[in-house]
Amino acid sequence: MARLVMKFGGTSVADIDRIRNVARHVKREVAAGHEVAVVVSAMAGTTNRLVDWCREAASLHDAREYDVVVASGEQVSAGLLAITLESMGINARSWQGWQLPIRTSDAHGAARILEVNGAELVKRFKERGEVAVIAGFQGVHPETNRITTLGRGGSDTSAVAVAAAVNADRCDIYTDVDGVYTTDPRVVAKARRLDKIAYEEMLELASLGAKVLQVRSVELGMVHNVRIFVRSSFDEPDSIDPHAAPPGTLICGEEEIVEQQVVTGIAFSKDEAQISIRRVADKPGVAAAIFGPLADASINVDMIVQNVSPDGATTDLTFTVPAADYERATSVLNGAKGKIGFERLDGATDVAKVSVIGVGMRSHAGVAAKAFKALAEHRINIRAITTSEIKFSLLIDANYTELAVRTLHSLYNLDK
Ligand code: ADP
Ligand code: ASP
Ligand code: MG
Repeated sequence: MARLVMKFGGTSVADIDRIRNVARHVKREVAAGHEVAVVVSAMAGTTNRLVDWCREAASLHDAREYDVVVASGEQVSAGLLAITLESMGINARSWQGWQLPIRTSDAHGAARILEVNGAELVKRFKERGEVAVIAGFQGVHPETNRITTLGRGGSDTSAVAVAAAVNADRCDIYTDVDGVYTTDPRVVAKARRLDKIAYEEMLELASLGAKVLQVRSVELGMVHNVRIFVRSSFDEPDSIDPHAAPPGTLICGEEEIVEQQVVTGIAFSKDEAQISIRRVADKPGVAAAIFGPLADASINVDMIVQNVSPDGATTDLTFTVPAADYERATSVLNGAKGKIGFERLDGATDVAKVSVIGVGMRSHAGVAAKAFKALAEHRINIRAITTSEIKFSLLIDANYTELAVRTLHSLYNLDK
């Protein structure tokens, strides 16, 4: 017997038929004697619609009320799954975030889980054989007693946090692909499913654009040593042997991966914007004058490139910000123009960041150099570069994203 957390994303609970399918996956595990907590997302499209409604009601709205609205999607799917399970003769009940409770910070819209109380769930596994159906994505801030949400894709994080709280043997993330691939399989047909991927690599993949897992869920998994397994909800539930290893990807410690490749995967993101500040004084304190006001406005700056100053007096400085913050960033900078002192501000939103990830890069030189050459052969211009121990990222024109990803995917022998 094992204790499992089973998480189902939006497309997996998109309508009543799909919810029935989910219930059959749950039934299979219960019948095999496992203790099960299920975490569900809102039905596909629901959260987007709720977000749009908030914007329509008022473009500037109270984040606490936004959370009240968007958390409702998961309430519906959790209730529907509990009803469906009951109708199949399985003892189940739904739980909202505040009921467990899942305690979070008060950063409404992007709250962090502080603590999950799993005691009642475990008690009910033992005493009643009851399946817990938990609304993902939501929690409660203990001091204000208000509903919070964890940021888009946050049900993954709910699932991993619940798995840690009940000390689950595994956290199965059921989604619309059958694992983590070398890159988004919807974009590159030759992408290959990985049997295993290290937490560190998954963290980079997720934070650099692969939305298969929310970044925070991987962080939590790493800290609490939760075995996260990404698998498909579209497989026929009854054809799966609950005691055999199904197809999917295990997120685990690096030491568990025997055959380590230099490059494990490629991520990309079009949610970037580039800002170039032209002819800014080349003297101490200028970077602080530029990035200080952006930090004060809670705008994350990512890639930074400063040109060599040809005349020793002025230089150009280029960096990226999230596309959603682009307008705000330019107005903050223009507001501080007098203090910073620059000639012109140029911006571009039609850019993309392509990132190559692999723990093998720690011990191999020249990995990035190969990429520069391959992209040059396709006449793809690189606007900015950043590197760290296990990844490098390139900023390019958005039009070339797919070409660049496919080129690098072949270059590093990731094609299947
Ligand atoms: P869910 O609704 O189940 O949470 P998501 O849409 O959030 O599902 O995440 C699954 C999607 O992530 C897939 O449909 C796929 O297009 C995308 N994706 C991006 N990069 C990858 C990758 N490297 N491996 C697998 N899927 C990826
Ligand atoms: N329903 C939420 C979203 O769409 C949370 C999730 O799906 O994980 O972002
Ligand atoms: Mg998701």
